[in-house]
Amino acid sequence: MRIGAHVDSTDPLAEAAARSADTIQFFLSDPQGWKTPKPREDAERLSSAAVDLYVHAPYVINVATLNNRIRIPSRKLLLGHADAAAAIGAKGLIVHGGHVNAGDDLAVGFDNWRKTFAYAADSGGFKLPVLIENTAGGDNACARRLDALARLWDAVGGYDVGFCLDTCHAHAGGEELLGLVDRVKAITGRIDLVHANNSKGAFNSGQDRHDNLGGGTIDPDLVVAVIRAAGAPVIVETPGGATGQGADIAFLRDQLGPEGRAA
Ligand SMILES: [Zn+2]
Repeated sequence: MRIGAHVDSTDPLAEAAARSADTIQFFLSDPQGWKTPKPREDAERLSSAAVDLYVHAPYVINVATLNNRIRIPSRKLLLGHADAAAAIGAKGLIVHGGHVNAGDDLAVGFDNWRKTFAYAADSGGFKLPVLIENTAGGDNACARRLDALARLWDAVGGYDVGFCLDTCHAHAGGEELLGLVDRVKAITGRIDLVHANNSKGAFNSGQDRHDNLGGGTIDPDLVVAVIRAAGAPVIVETPGGATGQGADIAFLRDQLGPEGRAA
């Protein structure tokens, strides 16, 4: 099983080595900005590395919103990131499920997701799998709770759409981790990546505050059980840099036993 971390994008392979990670995730541009990423000079080195790469799309992207001034640039930015992520040989592009504003119809948000994939298909399709990630907060989110996720998948399931399960977001979002993988797979049919994070916020607090696996409000055994059930690569998005994340990765490898050994 491949296990790694979300790392700084300056020299991602050095960050991987510092954590004994065989999988890494990073941003290709400012996560709070709207810039389409420039080609990376290390693209060749990255794409030929033994480390598996995932790219996290900027947080500002919200393809579900009814606000045109956010939705239209979000679609373009998502496509731009898919191109840039494919250019470095990434295995997937992770994007948050998004939300509609208070008072807006969530059904339109789901249809906006469908239109995003339709729009991409019209221009040749996304060049790598897009993995929609569950989120922790908000009352109008597309992928916080599983009832919404089911409606989202009704809208986009006809396209090749992947899913990224974040344990902090699920717990803080109000979904019990026990048995969660089966409940998610009943909807999506797949889990492509697990974001293994503990949560500083309480169950159903709506707070997106990650903690190291041994800290926080989630029993670490439950995180391990989710990983085992999902059978997907794992990324920790936890604090503490190479030391904190390295310890989280070592903890998971130890708990997972032979399955968790470095690839
Ligand atoms: Zn995450």
